[in-house]
Amino acid sequence: MQLFNTASRKIEEFKPINPPEVSFYTCGPTVYDFTHIGHLRTFVNNDALKRTLNFLGYKVKHVMNVTDVGHLTGDSDEGEDKMEKGAVKKATTVWELARVYTDYFLSSIDELKIIRPDVLSNATAHIPEFIEMIKKLEDNGFVYQTDEAVYFDISKFPNYGKLSGQKLEDKKTAVREGVNIDAGKKTPADFALWFKAVGRFKDHTMRWESPWGVGFPGWHIECSAMCIKYLGETIDIHTGGIDHITVHHENEIAQSESVTGKQFVHYWFHNDFLLIDGQKMSKSLGNFYTIDDVKKRNINPIALRMLFFQTHYQQIMNFTWESLSSAQTAYIRLQNIIIELKEKTNNDDTPKEYSDEAKKLKASFTNAISYNLQIPRAMAILWETVKSNISDKEKLGLLLDFDQVLGLGFKDMKNEVGDIPEEILKLAQKREKARRDKDFNKSDEIRKEIEAKGYSIKDSDLGFEIKNQVA
Ligand code: AMP
Ligand code: ZN
Repeated sequence: MQLFNTASRKIEEFKPINPPEVSFYTCGPTVYDFTHIGHLRTFVNNDALKRTLNFLGYKVKHVMNVTDVGHLTGDSDEGEDKMEKGAVKKATTVWELARVYTDYFLSSIDELKIIRPDVLSNATAHIPEFIEMIKKLEDNGFVYQTDEAVYFDISKFPNYGKLSGQKLEDKKTAVREGVNIDAGKKTPADFALWFKAVGRFKDHTMRWESPWGVGFPGWHIECSAMCIKYLGETIDIHTGGIDHITVHHENEIAQSESVTGKQFVHYWFHNDFLLIDGQKMSKSLGNFYTIDDVKKRNINPIALRMLFFQTHYQQIMNFTWESLSSAQTAYIRLQNIIIELKEKTNNDDTPKEYSDEAKKLKASFTNAISYNLQIPRAMAILWETVKSNISDKEKLGLLLDFDQVLGLGFKDMKNEVGDIPEEILKLAQKREKARRDKDFNKSDEIRKEIEAKGYSIKDSDLGFEIKNQVA
């Protein structure tokens, strides 16, 4: 397998430390609000990487954290704890907030057939581990204290900035002016390991005893400590969105390597963003859609997975409902093809021998995923396979094989009563376009046509909802 490594900015041959095992860590969600489809793009692509590694014969051990304390609204230790702010906004407790949004996160990844991590660990369940790690950093001379917090002193870590290639000088000026940060901080890019429950945090609900006073951990320490606890001091792959490269992952490297004296991560795998109207989809901007918004439109969540697979993980992607509608049409087509192949072959996907053409298709598929996870190319090969002249058994065999990586759920696909047929969806899309073009006569005509076929269509703030009037 070849993988782009953010650390070297090159595509490299993937060599795990202890093959066939692969240690794989993902920065998980901060559970103060709904998981949105932007997060899900990153998690789907991580899932594709994990499935690819397993497909190629590796055995992935996957660990993910759930941030339920310490992630502030600002990247330079300024602002509030997102959890505490979220709890006030939703008039609930931080603990209830974490429970509700962790459940939402889990149900969202389940809907998208993302394989759950082997270990999913909450920050608040690991406070002793964080304190232990901060103590080691203190013993090794990497920290200083102010009245407000315990900081990592980045001047003690000469490799700081290595991952993002940012110079320290640029970082100093990169911090926004006018933000209220601790005056005792030596340099803005130093980062908090432990916040004391004083000043702006004097009423912080989540608090624990520590050698530096009552308080709570910083966000970055959680990933270092949990990664080392569950996967070891040096791991193979660490994943996250590109927003984490310059601060969070630099900080993870600094903390971990200062404690262990060893390289923390061999391969850094970063996903580019999902945008909406040209802006990053984000909780803080409030410009996000969730998996429920997708389902409200009668769109199968797997269509979203297919939509994500149209764009390489290193490319930025703009989300539109039209593109998701088209992905849904493609998904339904694929579903019909799989069901038909199952019927034609009596569910037999084990041809005696694969023909040369089938072998070639499988090789092309494997090459595509093995070369820096070219999933859009792999999807093109899937469609080539559908259109090819190989036997139905071979087709079904190959498609089920490919699905180990794609995770589109071919194995369980069966005729489902109540599904919206492709024909109706196409009409709905045509009507949507007419509405956007303000051709209301035409959109009305199409609505009548849809109703004549036994379905109702209703506009909602998210677009449209279709219902089977008979079901
Ligand atoms: P958070 O809950 O904000 O810490 O984000 C969890 C993960 O989702 C991180 O790896 C983020 O980089 C990633 N993420 C957040 N927003 C987006 C987006 N719009 N597109 C892709 N990934 C995102
Ligand atoms: Zn992290």
